[in-house]
Amino acid sequence: MTIDPAAAYDPNNIFAKILRGEIPCSKIYEDDWALAFHDIAPQAKVHVLVIPRGAYVSWDDFSLRAPAEEIAGFVRAVGTVARELGLVAPGYRLLANVGHHGGQEVPHLHVHLFGGQPLGRMIA
Ligand code: 5GP
Repeated sequence: MTIDPAAAYDPNNIFAKILRGEIPCSKIYEDDWALAFHDIAPQAKVHVLVIPRGAYVSWDDFSLRAPAEEIAGFVRAVGTVARELGLVAPGYRLLANVGHHGGQEVPHLHVHLFGGQPLGRMIA
């Protein structure tokens, strides 16, 4: 089931619960702006999710409402995670699904970071 990107933020979504420590995750990085953890159903050898600490439904919501400092902090965190995982030299892929056509299932902005193998042209 995909989500409505225009819906109000649901504080009980699964990633909000992970941020509050109510649900465990396999954490690999955190700072003031972001938390990164392994996807529970990896679609590549490395499949990490990077989420902002702030309450944003989607990339659309984040790009519209987030203060510049928070956007910068989050973008920087995504780059840091990729570097710390040693993915820069071999290369990696970032993906943010938005809404129904994007196939977004969790209504808290998350960037998928794929790597650790040649990824071809697309990952579904
Ligand atoms: P979306 O389709 O919303 O872009 O991707 C949601 C991602 O979250 C999926 O890749 C799914 O495997 C992952 N996911 C869903 N629930 C959990 C969870 O409880 N823990 C973790 N680590 N990943 C989850």
